[in-house]
Amino acid sequence: MKPSHPAFTPPSDADARRAKSAVVCYPTTTLAPPDLGAMTARRAGARKTTQCIVPPRDARCTTVPAGSFFRITCTEGPQVGDLNLWSAANLEERFYSGKTRALHGTHVSTGDRLWSSFPTMRPMATIYEDTLDWYGWDADGGSVHDVIGTRCDPYTGRLLSGTDYHYCCHSNLTRALAEHNGIPLKVAESFVHDVLNVFMCTGFTQDTHQYFMKASPVRAGDYLEFFAEIDLIVGLSACPGGDCGEEHTSDHAACHPLVIDVFENTAPFTSPALNAYDGSNGR
Ligand SMILES: [Zn+2]
Repeated sequence: MKPSHPAFTPPSDADARRAKSAVVCYPTTTLAPPDLGAMTARRAGARKTTQCIVPPRDARCTTVPAGSFFRITCTEGPQVGDLNLWSAANLEERFYSGKTRALHGTHVSTGDRLWSSFPTMRPMATIYEDTLDWYGWDADGGSVHDVIGTRCDPYTGRLLSGTDYHYCCHSNLTRALAEHNGIPLKVAESFVHDVLNVFMCTGFTQDTHQYFMKASPVRAGDYLEFFAEIDLIVGLSACPGGDCGEEHTSDHAACHPLVIDVFENTAPFTSPALNAYDGSNGR
């Protein structure tokens, strides 16, 4: 956090230095936009094959074939979900929230892609529909579906409160991946990563620029739907924070289930190529 009383005196040209123009770090104008028309055609030919119910304060994994769709629905009461994505063929290829943020901004919506980690770095999924796209930005600078948070976890809880809570999204996703893939818990834990906070309403406070959350505007019937660009394992935790209006990492908040519906289209589909960088890193 920046000090409210800096130790050093501003230089005489401090205002001029601060007045420089902001430049977007990663303009995406060279990226071909997602072909939402082609997606709509594939969606019309898709049929529902799987429904996965994620219990409150727990997580589940499900597989989604490339070229198909998955929809995360809030079915009962306001509930936030922590989303992880892995390539079904290789758990090392996982969702990269930081680079997704760098490319698409702090909060994502229809048409934004969820990118995978290095060295594959390609779209894993594209957001197809978002019933909360009307929310925009609120007076606190908050919005929904962020890629700025991490995932609630027992390590930070231990650090800050001195107690252990085992049903954080990190632990929920770890157990779910271990069970889904039949791998040891410790191995699964190493693949769990920072999330897309589905339905969560977040931002940075205007004074200290700290990460904040507020009660999610999601209501029963709202959903966020994705197009799977590659064969995916989708992991979703119904966060113990419920609507995240008060606290997480505890059993205090009212929590509800979330549902993942998979809509498969078996027509041939070609996934995006692996990132074309040769990986030589100058050697
Ligand atoms: Zn959580």
